[in-house]
Amino acid sequence: AAARADPSIWPRAASPAAITDAEAQAFVSDLMSRMTLEEKVGQLIQADISAIAPEDLLTYPLGSILAGGSSGPFGDDKASAQRWLDLALAFREANARRGGTFVPLIYGVDAVHGHNNVPGATIFPHNIGLGAARDPDLIHRVGVATALEAAVTGVDWTFGPTLAVPRDDRWGRTYEGYSEDPEIQRAYAGPMTLGLQGELHPGRPLAPGRIAGSAKHFLADGGTTDGVDQGDFAGTERELIDVHLGGYVQAIDAGVLSIMASFSSWNGVKHSGNPTILTDVLRGPLGFQGFVVSDWNAHGQLPGCTNESCALAVNAGIDMLMAPDSWRALYQNTLAQARSGEIPAARIDEAVRRILTAKVKAGLFEADRPLEGRFEHLASADHRALAREAVRKSLVLLKNAGGVLPIRSDARVLVTGDAADDIGQAAGGWTLSWQGTGNTNADFPQGQSIWAGLREAIEAGGGQATLSPDGTFDQAPDVAVVVFGETPYAEFQGDLETLDFAPTGPLETLRRLRAAGVPTVAVFLSGRPMWTNPEINASDAFVAAWLPGTEGGGIADVLVGDATGAPRHDFTGRLSFSWPKDATGAPLNVGQPGYDPQFAYGYGLSYAGPGEVGVLSEESGVSGEGANLDRYFVEGRFPAPWGLSLQDGGGELRLGDAREGRSARGGIAVRPADGQTQESARTFVFSGDGGQAFIGGPAVDLTRQSNGELTLAFRYRVDQAPDGRVALVLGAGRVDLT
Ligand code: BGC
Repeated sequence: AAARADPSIWPRAASPAAITDAEAQAFVSDLMSRMTLEEKVGQLIQADISAIAPEDLLTYPLGSILAGGSSGPFGDDKASAQRWLDLALAFREANARRGGTFVPLIYGVDAVHGHNNVPGATIFPHNIGLGAARDPDLIHRVGVATALEAAVTGVDWTFGPTLAVPRDDRWGRTYEGYSEDPEIQRAYAGPMTLGLQGELHPGRPLAPGRIAGSAKHFLADGGTTDGVDQGDFAGTERELIDVHLGGYVQAIDAGVLSIMASFSSWNGVKHSGNPTILTDVLRGPLGFQGFVVSDWNAHGQLPGCTNESCALAVNAGIDMLMAPDSWRALYQNTLAQARSGEIPAARIDEAVRRILTAKVKAGLFEADRPLEGRFEHLASADHRALAREAVRKSLVLLKNAGGVLPIRSDARVLVTGDAADDIGQAAGGWTLSWQGTGNTNADFPQGQSIWAGLREAIEAGGGQATLSPDGTFDQAPDVAVVVFGETPYAEFQGDLETLDFAPTGPLETLRRLRAAGVPTVAVFLSGRPMWTNPEINASDAFVAAWLPGTEGGGIADVLVGDATGAPRHDFTGRLSFSWPKDATGAPLNVGQPGYDPQFAYGYGLSYAGPGEVGVLSEESGVSGEGANLDRYFVEGRFPAPWGLSLQDGGGELRLGDAREGRSARGGIAVRPADGQTQESARTFVFSGDGGQAFIGGPAVDLTRQSNGELTLAFRYRVDQAPDGRVALVLGAGRVDLT
């Protein structure tokens, strides 16, 4: 199948005329007439703040910096808002001191569910929960609040909204998408863009407190085969348009200033190197006038390219290269390619013009940024109330048998489950670090755990709430709330083989409480629908609460009624993803032939409507864990610059890029070389001297050897792959050298 788009069949969109108004263009033209080729090429390069110091900007005229993965240069140390701002200012000042033609930096972060980089910020529900709310006005207000909290810490730009349309919930980024059906992306893309940026006006920059957005990941990141992160979308151009174009038309019409190209490919051709998508379509019918940024070292995955050199990406239509740690060499090589004409001068000018135009519109040339340092906006009462409203509206009630909900506020309530008093788990990935692991309640000083919210509501009504981590009790409660679900993950580390919710602890707790005659309410936290029929059967009420963030009180608002048992807030959330009937992991999306979910797209009970749900089948059709893992595979394939040598049943992974005094942290995914073996090949066990990794599990820790290379010896096994071949893919582009 071809991967060449035909622009004539794509819908039309247009960036607002205010992006390219005459005044801004005259300003940019004048600036460009004074810029050297070095300065122009520098505009195309973006470095991660963990791999660049402010003083580097005295030598390198870079156009942008980012704090990727939400932890910036601070590692495990969760830096205060003041430290984040100081860092932003240090970069800005160094850039201003360089001399030559002054062009401000644009500083981008992943503020994807609030300003999730900074302790003390408001963490909103992840997009999957916002999708269930079906409330575009809410989305607009979330955008406004996110932009303001980011702006006060010196941030200019967020890598959002994510407009992915996840079509296979095994994908580790499912929760970053609003819905499996593009109707919600279409309804939300405009309001979110306008919330973040405000409206564009000719001759005027964005208002203070507004920041540039970046719609991502263009295109069909949610459509990859088997939900493999950064994988291949093997569908038709029609599906690209009808499903995966999702909300991009609306984001462009609303004036989104940038778009991020996807790591993924279409019929084998990576989007970051596909000129028919990035240029013919995006600049043709879609009429996009902002700039295109690539994803984290995505250019290094293109044919003939490395992280340090890739004319192909620029020539295909990438305007800014996200080159976290490879920026020095990439700058030099891109400069050489511009000098030799391998990248035409006109193409460099075009990219620079787009970037500078966006910088003008984003207000980066304005001397005055009155809101910086106004940290009282972080988790302000207004923002917390908004996040709490979003939590309430995101909850989907899947079962309410015997009217166990709402809980009377004068009841004796036992609260248990791993996630009950864990704000970090409720916030999920992309929270204070890339994976979102290792956060404690102390990292969210203004946040409220689900337990704390329940206690507050129950105590206010004269009831009695008890937190019992192991679910035991002295005196039988009137009702038990069991809060459990997925632990945090991000990107490929969250890819799954099946949708079975594997941990058995919560199910045992639910059954034990049931056996003791205690009515049970399950609150399930997850980044995707999962096969949970046993848990649903073992509960009287079951609530899909997604990844709600820091305002756990929103859950109590809906679960706990008043002292007469009347609800204070009803459930209004409806599934924006279909809930599976078995754990096979086969994609299940509304409108597809053979659609047969347990709970259909749009499902959601309420107090006003019906309540109940019958006993569900517990035949899941998958063997799950404990499958026969007895075959070893011997073939490895690795993209440059990584080296790999494997022996039967084990191997050695070398990270050739290692530098003195650095250690690496990354994830490793096993993928089959031949498409037919994908499902089984994703069951694997991985262990090694430097650490342990499972898909969806903790990151691998690799230790530095005396020769300066990072080496990890490991063994792996894969079951039932017919020809015994696998490809090993190092979570491409996401090895953070720290
Ligand atoms: C992700 C992007 C993100 C970028 C910067 C990449 O790995 O795919 O969504 O914006 O990192 O952190």
